[in-house]
Amino acid sequence: MTQTLNPQTHASTEPVQVQNLIGGQWLDASDGETFETRDPHDGSLLGVVPRGSAQDGQAAVDAARAAFDDGPWAWMSPKERGKILHAVADAVDDHREELAMLETRDGGKTITQSLHAEIPRVAHNLRFFADYVAMAGNEAYPDGDLFSYTLYPPAGVVSAISPWNAPLMLATWKIAPALAFGNTVVLKPAPQTPLTAHRFAQLALEAGMPEGVLNVVHGFGGDEVAGPLTGSRKVDRITFTGSSATGVKILQAAAVNHIPVSAEMGGKSAQIVFADADLDIAVPKAIRGIFGGNGQVCLSGTRLLVQNSIREEFLARFVEETQKLTIGDPKDPATFLGPLIEQDHLDKVHGYVELAREEGGEIVTGGQRLSGEGLDDGFYYPPTVITGLTNQDRVAREEIFGPVETVLGFDTEEEAMAITNDSDYGLAGMLFTSNLDRAHRMASRWKAGTVWINTFFERDLRLPFGGEGSSGLGREGGQYSRDFFTEPRAVTIRL
Ligand code: NAD
Repeated sequence: MTQTLNPQTHASTEPVQVQNLIGGQWLDASDGETFETRDPHDGSLLGVVPRGSAQDGQAAVDAARAAFDDGPWAWMSPKERGKILHAVADAVDDHREELAMLETRDGGKTITQSLHAEIPRVAHNLRFFADYVAMAGNEAYPDGDLFSYTLYPPAGVVSAISPWNAPLMLATWKIAPALAFGNTVVLKPAPQTPLTAHRFAQLALEAGMPEGVLNVVHGFGGDEVAGPLTGSRKVDRITFTGSSATGVKILQAAAVNHIPVSAEMGGKSAQIVFADADLDIAVPKAIRGIFGGNGQVCLSGTRLLVQNSIREEFLARFVEETQKLTIGDPKDPATFLGPLIEQDHLDKVHGYVELAREEGGEIVTGGQRLSGEGLDDGFYYPPTVITGLTNQDRVAREEIFGPVETVLGFDTEEEAMAITNDSDYGLAGMLFTSNLDRAHRMASRWKAGTVWINTFFERDLRLPFGGEGSSGLGREGGQYSRDFFTEPRAVTIRL
């Protein structure tokens, strides 16, 4: 059914015929509707995908419900479940090149990132949560003639709704803990990037995942396939990663049946560079902090705050290094920046650059769609640096989700902190300084779920991950995933 890609030639044999996985069955959409997924580099057809209806979404929820209620997944020991999750992780490792190439072709992510960061993280997500659940301790409170302890039974059926910007890495960030804690899952990948979820589901079944425990449906939100994933009474948890606007709709739908939601949403993070920073570290990290992942990363440091005393020097180095970034075919290991995901998104990103001009900004580099050999058929946009704006301008306040950096100045720590926290979002922050006191002080005041100091993108899966304000609701990771994906229960015995 699925055609594999040849990692040597980077060529697919023919478009993948994607199907929904419901209760262990591979199915087309019940009404036969399909949509296409295309390569953002050259527009070539990569796959034909079922456009699931609400009926298909409900069938997947029903299958997950039956698999949960009838067992044995929910009541297996964590060690037994862990064995299966480890087998799936091994299968991911064994198919790393194929999955990485699928990810790169479907979403435009560079092959270096897919192969060396994201697909390895998929396997790590699975192994980490399999082992975490098997090794987690528990609390017990002997109190006179009373003895109390906590149980963590699985919550039940989990809907996992994921975005296109790090497709399989973010999907498994949700389904690995959900499954490890004994839940059954319905995954709905983003319609722009369905291919790795499809291949992953095949590998998971082959590796021993019981029928109905992992279901995957493809298509769109609202009244279509995602409707029952957020609106059915048979769903016990919703874990969502995507835009803040969609998050609000999901929260509203979930509220009707009081289904708890974990929402990881948009960002407008700051990266702050002090005069005492080591610029040999700060310049490349800040470049990766905004232009890595083609600028389509929720955590990106989209507001670059530079202390005014080094502003000129820093900016000169930042722009010089930015202009050296290699842009082009994401399948080429030398490429740093590939295409944006789709035409609409390119238009949105460029619209913000136009808005920056209107708001009085100066485009220091970039700012026009790229064309030329190898670029004309793709959605290529250059790394763009804007100065001359304030933190009150829309470009500095709204999520652009592209390779666009807004540079702001500051004089004092207090000023930097005030600008940083003056945002609707609160996802992440990066700080470059050699003053450790300042680093701890600012980290404690930063309105953000994650703060990185003199580094970027390091993720320890035991730590909480999530955001404040428009960036999210709740945290996942380690014990935070346990608290979300289980229904903690207090048990007290009179001895
Ligand atoms: P999106 O909100 O458009 O879509 C995300 C998912 O939600 C997709 O699967 C989509 O089909 C589905 N969806 C859309 N409407 C729905 C509805 N009414 N009901 C149920 N599901 C619905 O987001 P996107 O464009 O795919 O992703 C980019 C966004 O994701 C950015 O805002 C980015 O910041 C955010 N993001 C956040 C994190 C994080 O960890 N905080 C990580 C990655 C991306």
